[in-house]
Amino acid sequence: MSTLPEWAIRKLVFPLWSLRDHPGYRGDLRDFLRTQFLSRAQIEALQLERLNKLLKHAYAQCPFYRRRLAEAGINGDRLPSLDAFKALPLLGKRDIQDNGAEMLATDFSESDRVRNQTGGSTGSPLQFYVDKRRFDSRLASTVRHNGWAGYQPGDWCAELWGARLDEVAGRGWWDGCRNRFLYRLVPLNTSLIRPEDWDLFITALRKRRPRFIVAYTQSAVLFAHYLREKRVDDIRFESLITTAEVLLPGQREFLQETFGGRVFNRYGCREVSVIASECEHHRGLHVNAEALLVEIAADPYLPAPGGKVVITDLLNFSMPLIRYEIGDVGQWSENQECPCGRALPLLADIQGRITDFLVLSHGLKVSGPSLTLVVSDMPDVRQVQFIQKSGDEVTLRVVPGHAYGPETAAELRKRLSLYLKGLARLQIELVESIPSLASGKYRFVVNESESQAAGTEATLEGARA
Ligand SMILES: [Zn+2]
Repeated sequence: MSTLPEWAIRKLVFPLWSLRDHPGYRGDLRDFLRTQFLSRAQIEALQLERLNKLLKHAYAQCPFYRRRLAEAGINGDRLPSLDAFKALPLLGKRDIQDNGAEMLATDFSESDRVRNQTGGSTGSPLQFYVDKRRFDSRLASTVRHNGWAGYQPGDWCAELWGARLDEVAGRGWWDGCRNRFLYRLVPLNTSLIRPEDWDLFITALRKRRPRFIVAYTQSAVLFAHYLREKRVDDIRFESLITTAEVLLPGQREFLQETFGGRVFNRYGCREVSVIASECEHHRGLHVNAEALLVEIAADPYLPAPGGKVVITDLLNFSMPLIRYEIGDVGQWSENQECPCGRALPLLADIQGRITDFLVLSHGLKVSGPSLTLVVSDMPDVRQVQFIQKSGDEVTLRVVPGHAYGPETAAELRKRLSLYLKGLARLQIELVESIPSLASGKYRFVVNESESQAAGTEATLEGARA
């Protein structure tokens, strides 16, 4: 099957497989391809209709939400507008950990839902349930958003992906076959990459020549650096779908120059799959709005106009996530018009996880990715990572270049002091390397202070479907 032409996979194998594993997929995809061109008012009307259905269900079937909705005075009543929804408090990760069992819908049997969980670097993973049926619409969303980058079922696709959890979930014989023959993936696990792994990956890419790559953003950047260092110039992609990590300014151009294609930034997570992604015009990330109601909640300690990303999954009923504070920081695009004709709301690039922010005195938050950017053009600084020891003590780990010396350290202090504003002492620690997380992701900020230790790497996770 690995030699079947693309059209055969697209027109025959993929549809047949989806009939077996995802019977709702074809209809969902047809709907998503139509509704993406609705007007903004029509999209909001569709969201309100779906939201009311979800709230009615949650009130009737989930003890936790019955209490919450009653306290907010909403009960099982129809909301007149999306604005009225804001009376409901936000749902934090802690709420889910404490009330998970009471959030389950009583009219769902075990066989109609699938247990899923997010990774937790501090040993407290978050468990939640996804309707079996919901995986059909998740797949349909993913296929639609892949299509904006030109990538269709049947196309070979390179994949730089970490996530231990995916490996555990996809360990079976059938999953292996599916990845190879159906999804046609040329994968590399980014959890622990040695130089020889890059070489094997390059060999595999030369064999299949995929036109697309889906990648953890910082892994794609590392791969590009490796190719440049080795003067390899024949690994090219038409489209690079970067996800799961922040895309820093400058990295888009760097990737496009190295691989010769266009970057399509994407935002997703394990809880709700694809949240938003760029279309062919790259004016921001269009929200998957028929499936998800996304809000940006203001936070006085975050640099405006950014706020906390809040998500309601309109199509998941076995364990509803309603006004779920996902732990990322984002903002709306200033311009909500896109020449593609889709009125799906536009997010600006995601600024990072809440845990990517240093928390200084008075709760002031400073973005780790932004601080990293401040020092990223220094030639003697190969890589950095911020360690928050306490509210007023920050250590900067530095992988030094050959000419690193006292002047470099002084320059680092000078540049960073502008942002730390005298609120934290800065120590510099030289290290040989900065390992990725076991999940394959790069961490801008490691929080070693007790008050923040509950933070996890649970968000900004990639979403395959
Ligand atoms: Zn667009």
